[in-house]
Amino acid sequence: MEVLSVASELYPIIKTGGLADVAGALPYALAKNGAKMRTLLPAYNYEKSKFSNHEIIHTYKDLFGTKAQLISCNHNDLELILLDAPSLYNRVGGPYLDKNGKDYPDNWKRFAALSKAAADIAGGICTNYKPDIVHAHDWQAALAPVYMKHGNKRAKSTPSLITIHNIAFQGKFDAEVFTKLGLGKGDENFDNFEFYGDISFLKAGLIHSNFITTVSPQYAREILTEDFGMGLDGVIRENSHKLSGILNGIDIEVWNPKTDEALAKNYDIKNITHRKHNKSKIEEIFELDRNNGPILCVISRLTEQKGIDVLINLFGAIVDLGARLVILGSGDKEVEATVKDAANKYKGRIGVKIGYDEALSHLLQGGSDAILIPSRFEPCGLTQLYGLRYGCVPIVARNGGLADTIIDANDAAINAGVATGFQFAKVNEHEFYYALKRAIDLYKTPKDWHKIQSNGMKADVSWVKSGAAYFELYKCALAEK
Ligand code: ADP
Repeated sequence: MEVLSVASELYPIIKTGGLADVAGALPYALAKNGAKMRTLLPAYNYEKSKFSNHEIIHTYKDLFGTKAQLISCNHNDLELILLDAPSLYNRVGGPYLDKNGKDYPDNWKRFAALSKAAADIAGGICTNYKPDIVHAHDWQAALAPVYMKHGNKRAKSTPSLITIHNIAFQGKFDAEVFTKLGLGKGDENFDNFEFYGDISFLKAGLIHSNFITTVSPQYAREILTEDFGMGLDGVIRENSHKLSGILNGIDIEVWNPKTDEALAKNYDIKNITHRKHNKSKIEEIFELDRNNGPILCVISRLTEQKGIDVLINLFGAIVDLGARLVILGSGDKEVEATVKDAANKYKGRIGVKIGYDEALSHLLQGGSDAILIPSRFEPCGLTQLYGLRYGCVPIVARNGGLADTIIDANDAAINAGVATGFQFAKVNEHEFYYALKRAIDLYKTPKDWHKIQSNGMKADVSWVKSGAAYFELYKCALAEK
């Protein structure tokens, strides 16, 4: 079985969030089930030396007004097809935003081109590679199933699957973009794209794909509702017969406290006390006062979704409870500034690093006592899974994948010896405070705290189950073909 995964980011090549981790881990997970996955990825700042086994497998004279090539290559064990179209992708800035944090104005074209290339590959444009299934990720790849429906016989009959990593990102553009997508002479219904006067790539992808998955069973239920569907819940409800939730796993090789080179000291469940060396390094980096209290950490995009505003209002309370807090994050400039300002008042107790730092994120998981995730919604969430794996106890809002992956340390769970973290139901100061207080109180009883840590470290957060679930879905898709 050959699966073409279509993604706008992929770890370790380009990452802004969890999508990259998933796209980077899925090929390995599927290989274990006997499916071969190649990933179609835009060639952002393409540096030939980073890749091996280059082969140009198709040349476009004109893809949305520009010359482009499809380059088959490898990055370590990952098999890739890079869409090399320098005028679309070779930019100063990130994959979606320019260096001032603004959306590139031609994002519609950049990701329509990616999707069109995927549909062309499904249609057999590359002589040596013809995928059996196309698996598109998020709005950036969402037009792949649409272009496939408008493609040749092979493209039309190739099953497609779209995964929603976050329904808040919908690929919304001005309605006039619709006429520029090259979707034939009026044979695509504008209603499939229309979204409150604009168009949404994600909406069209959801309607046209054969299967829809999202990244946790709980989020699959949530997006059927007005509260979480972000305006697309009606579309999701109409297409619920093809929807399922498959929990993300994590790459347990990359995220392994026993071998992680980003840690000051490696450890495993048997010598968990070695974490103190990492904690000490965190104290040094964030210039924290040294004491016996817990260090709580946040590793996050700093946006409204992540509930950072609620956390800021609890800075004083956290310090009063005897804990210290370190924050590694980047995102909205305003939120970044507010976090920094608020933390300034608590020098030595709260430390903030604005920016994206992969190695530091590993160290924080390996040395902090708990990780805070007060997200207003969280499709799956990866940082709580890394937290489990590293004995960094997750304190999380009870929604989406956070609800599915953390067992709250209530009395029953503690007595049964199964708790792995702390949950709170509503993202407000009151509920978050009590979860923090419960955790900080329990930290004072090392035996109970270690039990929670070790339960988490024993939890299966790998891709084994989820890889098998995707494989089953692909088999289903092929059987229905
Ligand atoms: P989302 O995809 O919504 O941002 P996830 O929890 O699914 O949230 O994934 C976030 C990923 O990005 C994790 O791998 C996390 O460690 C990483 N991450 C987030 N912010 C930072 C940062 N400032 N520095 C390093 N890694 C970060």
